[in-house]
Amino acid sequence: KLHNTILELKGNIRVFCRVRPLLPDDGSSSEGKVIFYPTSMEAHGRGIDLVQSGQRHSFTFDKVFMPDASQEEVFVEISQLVQSALDGYKVCIFAYGQTGSGKTYTMMGKPGLPELKGLIPRSLEQIFQTRQSLEPQGWKYEMQVSMLEIYNETIRDLISTNRSSTDVLRLENSNGGKQYTIKHDANGNTHVSDLTIVDVRSAKEVAFLLNQAANSRSVGKTQMNEQSSRSHFVFTLRISGVNESTEQHVQGVLNLIDLAGSERLSKSGSTGDRLKETQAINKSLSSLSDVIFALAKKEDYVPFRNSKLTYLLQPCLGGDSKTLMFVNISPDSSSAGESLCSLRFAARVN
Ligand code: ADP
Ligand code: MG
Repeated sequence: KLHNTILELKGNIRVFCRVRPLLPDDGSSSEGKVIFYPTSMEAHGRGIDLVQSGQRHSFTFDKVFMPDASQEEVFVEISQLVQSALDGYKVCIFAYGQTGSGKTYTMMGKPGLPELKGLIPRSLEQIFQTRQSLEPQGWKYEMQVSMLEIYNETIRDLISTNRSSTDVLRLENSNGGKQYTIKHDANGNTHVSDLTIVDVRSAKEVAFLLNQAANSRSVGKTQMNEQSSRSHFVFTLRISGVNESTEQHVQGVLNLIDLAGSERLSKSGSTGDRLKETQAINKSLSSLSDVIFALAKKEDYVPFRNSKLTYLLQPCLGGDSKTLMFVNISPDSSSAGESLCSLRFAARVN
């Protein structure tokens, strides 16, 4: 009962916390466990405690997934939200956290392992399945996909026809003359000039595009100093539905966003491009936090224009749209400082 009241007050913004399992690479943590799950009635499944330097910090979110939570269990909790895009809602699902905390695992999963598929492929399968089941009731849907990356406040198209590896490298260094200017029309639709938009008819088609985008990003990773962890990945599915018997129309959008790593890159030692990069990431992540915070507080002024990311997503963040933020956490003791920063960030927008 209390839980419901809280959700209502907060409107359409929810925060889920997911802690990944300890990995061999995390090293032996001589300091021991730092993450605890309170078992009180009130905090059950929603509380997380972090102990750092002998101090215990407690947080409560809409849901906390422990390390053993499967991809399926996580998806079950968001499937309603995904479904609402078919009912005409604008939906944003973000993954926030330091590099290595499980953002990409949560959003994309492990390629080639069906059980480990992440939220993006599962969402698409569900959407295309539902679309089929709604056909007998007269519903016809058209779906369009675009995928982009925002790096240093610059947009890069992740779908390109005939992309060769030289193309990818060229795109790393410039936009190839493309502008990628963001505009919103009166109906709340977003247009990005020069951005490739693909009509899709099946989850398989989208999987193919996702795979291409992932390859394009990983080329960037080796060539450009692990650029992918410093860029935001934005997957957008536009859904337009019409019911031929009732003449109802719906226009929904599903945005699935794998954010840049939230780690505070050491300020000393960051110079030139690296410093610019750090500033750009910090700016866009803090802008995102400012925007969500202002929306949650129902403030009159929401600073959408402070970053490319928030401006791009403006129509999908305000109004009656629905937002979910995953805060991904590494459980190892050496990440405790960053984990605390992530939990505080998430608590602010929650
Ligand atoms: P990020 O995208 O935040 O940098 P990744 O998603 O790449 O982090 O995860 C880092 C590593 O941890 C990867 O090897 C990934 O497979 C693993 N991992 C992350 N989350 C989980 C999880 N819930 N269960 C098992 N392994 C995970
Ligand atoms: Mg990643």
